[in-house]
Amino acid sequence: MPNYQCINFGQCAKADSGEEIEIQPGAETTCPQCGQKLESVQRAGIAPRMKLVLVVVPVTLALAGLLWFLFSGQPKASPSETVEDALVHVWPWLEKS
Ligand SMILES: [Zn+2]
Repeated sequence: MPNYQCINFGQCAKADSGEEIEIQPGAETTCPQCGQKLESVQRAGIAPRMKLVLVVVPVTLALAGLLWFLFSGQPKASPSETVEDALVHVWPWLEKS
């Protein structure tokens, strides 16, 4: 009997835990937790790992992008501090006398 796995990562606890769900033959292959369609589990070994990479890499990139946005956006976020002010904080000798 084929086992299934929820791939609704980030939304469903069963997907995040990688829990395998046994589906009775003829029954609908939907997740009992979130109702998403289930993927059949590949026993080859490489496929689940590839799926993990496919999830982890975009999440890491998204986090890095978010951090970059937060740090690069900071001078713009506070109108009192310009980019020049921020540079002067780092290199005080840049300050005009
Ligand atoms: Zn689910």
